[in-house]
Amino acid sequence: MHHAREVSQVIRGMPAADGDGVKLTRLIGSPYLDQLDPFLLLDAFGSDSPQDYIGGFPSHPHRGFETVTYMLAGSMRHEDSAGNAGVIEAGGVQWMTAGRGIIHSEMPQQSAGLLAGFQLWINLPSTHKMTPPAYQERTAAEIPIETLKDGTRVKVIAGQTRRGTQGVIENGLTEPVFWDVSLLAGGCLDERLTPTHNAFIYVIAGELTIGASQDLLVTGQLAILGSGDGVVIEATEASRFLLIAAKPLNEPVERAGPFVMNTRAEIDQAFADYRQGRLA
Ligand code: MN
Repeated sequence: MHHAREVSQVIRGMPAADGDGVKLTRLIGSPYLDQLDPFLLLDAFGSDSPQDYIGGFPSHPHRGFETVTYMLAGSMRHEDSAGNAGVIEAGGVQWMTAGRGIIHSEMPQQSAGLLAGFQLWINLPSTHKMTPPAYQERTAAEIPIETLKDGTRVKVIAGQTRRGTQGVIENGLTEPVFWDVSLLAGGCLDERLTPTHNAFIYVIAGELTIGASQDLLVTGQLAILGSGDGVVIEATEASRFLLIAAKPLNEPVERAGPFVMNTRAEIDQAFADYRQGRLA
């Protein structure tokens, strides 16, 4: 029995600035939505004015969670304290498990033109917060795209579709689904979703309806999905959206800036390790 999820809440983004003055829209990790277990933060950035992004995100630490950077346009160069470096190009993804700690910078690899994308933070379970840092980095060409008869395209970054297309990112901890979906006008996505996963949709462009109640969602809105074992999404005009889901951890969350742990003492330890050069 297929029970499509309905919209439980629609969230508006909050204009914010982070790093060295990068303008972005904060969708998770804001006063409107503090977190959606295990998702701690979602930022959308997109501008063709260099002054909105040129400062980038100079050297900063992370501990206790994963960061996912997904670029829609432009490119971002990253470099960490262990000597790892690379450039995430348009359509590519970097899935970084910060674990016990990294110090890195994320800087635009351009001085003009459109830079657009997302950064998502996914929490790590207490058993893996101090795991060694690791990267999974994939270019657009490496990410499978499933094309359906009605023209629907599902770019499968993580998770598996019901037709069996497997995402390029491996993650057994929170079993994430991360799809970039394009629908033609009148097109539909009818998919399964693990009932115990928390899930949301963010509309990159267009206008669509969700579930049997056909709640309307427009560009820039994030919808938290309620309970069910599937999703039915129909486009009233050509649309593009992210469908993201993962297993909730149901653990205490203590967060302070770039550190997300389970207890206050662990946060204090992270700051002490960072100050004393023992974080990364
Ligand atoms: Mn970072």
